[in-house]
Amino acid sequence: MTGIEYYRKIDFKKEKVFMITGNTGLYGVIGSPIRHSKSPAIYNFCFDYHGLDNVYLAFEVTEGSCEEFFRSAKTLGIKGFNVTMPCKEIAAKLCDKLSPAAEFARAANTIVNLDGEFFGHNTDGKGVVNDLKDHGVDVKDKKILLFGAGGAARAIMIQCALDGARTINVFNRNEEKLSVLKEISQEMKAKGNTTEFGFFPTGDVNALADEISDSDIVINATSLGMEPKPDTAVITDPCLLNADQTVYDVVYNPPVTRFMETANTAGCKVIGGGGMLIYQAMEAFKIYTGIDMDVKLVKAHMERISQ
Ligand code: NAP
Repeated sequence: MTGIEYYRKIDFKKEKVFMITGNTGLYGVIGSPIRHSKSPAIYNFCFDYHGLDNVYLAFEVTEGSCEEFFRSAKTLGIKGFNVTMPCKEIAAKLCDKLSPAAEFARAANTIVNLDGEFFGHNTDGKGVVNDLKDHGVDVKDKKILLFGAGGAARAIMIQCALDGARTINVFNRNEEKLSVLKEISQEMKAKGNTTEFGFFPTGDVNALADEISDSDIVINATSLGMEPKPDTAVITDPCLLNADQTVYDVVYNPPVTRFMETANTAGCKVIGGGGMLIYQAMEAFKIYTGIDMDVKLVKAHMERISQ
C-alpha cells in the first residue's frame, strides 16, 4: 500500500490517535515493572466510551525515581495517575493531601491533580471488598487470613476491618512491614474498630496452620505468583486449605496463579485479581471524572482483548 492509499483509508472519526489535540488530558499509571499493566486498556476504553478527551499511558517508575516523576508530572500538568508497586508508599509521602483511607494506609494508588496540588486516594481495599461482594462473599463477621504487608495488603486490611470483619490475621515475610500494619490496627482500635487482629511472620508455620484452618477467606496480597515469576506462591500445599473457604489472589497476571491452582485442588471458591483491578479502577475513574464506570462493559472489554 502506498502512503497516499493508506492515508485515504483512515477513518478520522474512528481513529482516536488523530483526535489528540493540544487540549487532550494526560493520565497514566506508574510502577515497576509496568509493561504488563492492564490499566491503559481499561481507562482508554472508558475515556473513549464516555467521549472524554483524555489519554492514559504507562510509565516505568521505581521508588528511586518517584520524586522526580511527581515534579515532572506537575510541570507537565498530568491530570491524574494510578500508582502500583513498588511506589504506593513513597507516593503517599509525595502527595500534598491524602484521603482518610490513603492516610490510614500510608499508601496511595490514585493521585488526582487539583489545581496543581496532588491529592492521594487509596481504592485498593474497596476493589477487593466489592469484588468479593460481586462473588456473593461479604467480609462482615468473617475470619480473614491475609498474606502481605505492602500497599495492597494494608488497604485490604483497613477496608475489611472498616467493613466489619470479625478477625484478620496478617502473615508477612518482612517483620518490620508487619509491625507497621500492627500500628495501623492499633490506631483503628483506638478509633473504635472492633475487629480482632493477629500479626505473624510467614515463617511461623505453626501459627499459619492454626489460623488458616478455620479462616473463611484467605487472601494473597503479596506479589508472589506474578509474572515474571509465576511459579512462586504463598501456599503450595492444598492440605492447608479446605472446600468451605474463599481464596482471593490480588495478582491478575497470570489470570490463574499457582496459589489459585492450589486452592482449586483443595475445592475452595477461588477468585483472581482481575475483578479487583476493575473495581478499584471504578473508584479511581469516579475520582478522575465524576462518572460511574460500567463494570459489566469493562469486564466484557477486558475479556475480549485478552482472547
Ligand atoms: P508492595 O507494596 O511492593 O508489597 C509487596 C508484597 O509482596 C510485600 O508483602 C512483600 O513482602 C511481598 N513479597 C514480594 N516478594 C516476595 C517474596 N519473594 N516472598 C515473600 N513475599 C514477597 O506491592 P503491592 O502494591 O502491595 O502489590 C502486591 C501485589 O498486588 C502485586 O502483585 C500487584 O500487582 C498486586 N495488585 C493487584 C491489584 C489488582 O487490581 N488486582 C491492585 C494492587 C496490587 P515483604 O514485605 O516481606 O517484602
